[in-house]
Formats: sequence, C-alpha cells, structure tokens
Amino acid sequence: MSEPLLRVNELVKNYPVKGGVFGREVDQVHAVDGVSFEIAAGETLGLVGESGCGKSTTGRCILRLIEPTSGEVWFEGQNVTALGHRALTALRRDVQIIFQDPYASLNPRMTVGAIVGEALIIHRLAKSRRAFEDRVVELLETVGLDADQMRRYPHEFSGGQRQRIGIARALAVSPKLIVCDEPVSALDVSIQAQVINLLEDLQAQFGLTYLFIAHDLSVVEHISTRVAVMYLGRIVEIASAQALYAAPLHPYTEALLSAVPIPDPTAKRQRIHLQGDVPNPIRPPTGCHFHTRCPIRELPLCSTEKPILRKTADGHFVACHLRG
Ligand code: SF4
Repeated sequence: MSEPLLRVNELVKNYPVKGGVFGREVDQVHAVDGVSFEIAAGETLGLVGESGCGKSTTGRCILRLIEPTSGEVWFEGQNVTALGHRALTALRRDVQIIFQDPYASLNPRMTVGAIVGEALIIHRLAKSRRAFEDRVVELLETVGLDADQMRRYPHEFSGGQRQRIGIARALAVSPKLIVCDEPVSALDVSIQAQVINLLEDLQAQFGLTYLFIAHDLSVVEHISTRVAVMYLGRIVEIASAQALYAAPLHPYTEALLSAVPIPDPTAKRQRIHLQGDVPNPIRPPTGCHFHTRCPIRELPLCSTEKPILRKTADGHFVACHLRG
C-alpha cells in the first residue's frame, strides 16, 4: 500500500490544570489520549464526537497550532512534529484549516480581499499588485462570491458567506489537505448543505483531501469516505462511511447513529439515550472510558482493561471488549 498523505501516530495532548496560591500545575486534562489514524490522498475522513472529546485539539495538533504532548504527525513522509519554524511555515502551504466560527475567525478590521490574500503575501505567491488582485478575485468567484465584494468587511456578510470567505482564504495557497474544524456547526441547516456541497465540489476540482470534524454523524455522512468516532480523547471506531452507517459496531457509535434522522418517514430507528454526561477528562474512567455510560458493559472487564482498537474486517476497526 502506498504511503498515506497524513499519518497520525499515538497522538497525546494534555493541558495543565493550575491551582493554589502559586498557580502550580495541580492536574492535567487528557484531551487527546493516544489517537492514531491515516488519511489517503483525495479522501475525506470524518472525525466525530461530542464536544470536549478532543477532535478539534487533534485537528490543531496536526497543523501544530497546538503543540502535542507526545506522538507523531507525518505528512507526505515528513515528521511534522519535528519541524523547525521555517519548515513549519512551508508546511502550512500544504495543510490549511477552516474554523468553526466564521464570525470570530475573520479579522473585522481587514477587508475581505486582504483576508483572502494574506497568505499570498506571507508565502510570496503574488508577483505584483495586479496579480494579487486577480488571484483574490479568482478565489472569491471559486467559492461563489463576487469580485466587487473584496473591498467590503466581514460584518457585511451572512454566516454562510463568511464561511465561504474562510474557505477562499484556505484555498489561496493551493493546499493538499484541509482540516475542516466543524465548518458548518454555527450555520443554519439550509446553509450547512450549501457549504458541504461547495466543499465537495472543491475537492473534485482541486483534488483536495479533508479531515472533516463534526459533532454529529448526520453532517459527515455524505462527504466522508471513512469515519472515525472519538470518545473522551480516544478513537473508538473507524470504518468506511458505508460500513459504519450500515452496521456500527461500537455501542457509542450506535447511540450517536440512533440520533440521526432517517429520510424515509416509514422507517423507524430506535433512539438510544445514554445515561449521564461525558465524564470529566481530568479523571477519565478507568479501563474503557465509555464504561460508565455503556448499555452493554461487563464488569469488571470493562472498568479495568483498556480495549485496543482492533481490525475486524477490511477497513473496520473497533475498540470494545465485546464487539468485533
Ligand atoms: Fe461497552 Fe465494555 Fe465495549 Fe467499553 S469495552 S464499549 S464498556 S462493552
């Protein structure tokens, strides 16, 4: 098998919790707890889980917007986690990010043209003022905006249009991989579909690869080649989108999937309501992190032994003592 475009290996990110009079580290939040996955060129990996499960932290560690505590990230055969400042700047031509909040991620004092074109200046990709403006216009039109909107400011745009501006900014450097960090969560449902369709069109047009982060399975269903489900810092299941939606193996995936509406009004899916809330990531449950909420747990096995992510069939991995 050829080398994947991105390989994440045993990624860990702990945040210090400070307390006491001297503000010393008294504990740690275990945000990402040994996450591993690969993404092949041209595919979309959906990364799904409830808020606080570590999915956005994982995405930011890939670009080193956040420094991982341990583990490795490999992109096109180079170890991203070991890159110096200059090499990291070069990497960010190939790997871009689209943020969740199109209101907060655009500088309100910059025109749309300056926002979209900023990376052209950083990476010296425009040889003249004219070339800069031509490229910005091209990018705006690529995402469905008008050329004359380049002199306007972000507050003059709707949420969906602002997310298009964020996408144009990411496209400016012709990246290979885009980390889409909940790009539609802040948008109305009708606008979500438009933005997802745009991302699919751009993928086909430019051969892009996506890590698409979302908090529910309905958002990633159509755009994903494969889906990884995260719970409390760990990946509990990875499979092709088709296999995961047709026959989920992990009880947590089953619960998430039971909340996804079915388009056929005659079909029924029984909703699985999990007990309790997601536990505190400062002190996650022992053994399987999910055992405090799992409807099929077996004690003491599930509370004492950590389940390993095991391969069950081609491309289907699950971390559960009882499934697979
Ligand atoms: Fe449930 Fe046990 Fe499987 Fe964890 S390992 S998901 S607690 S059955």
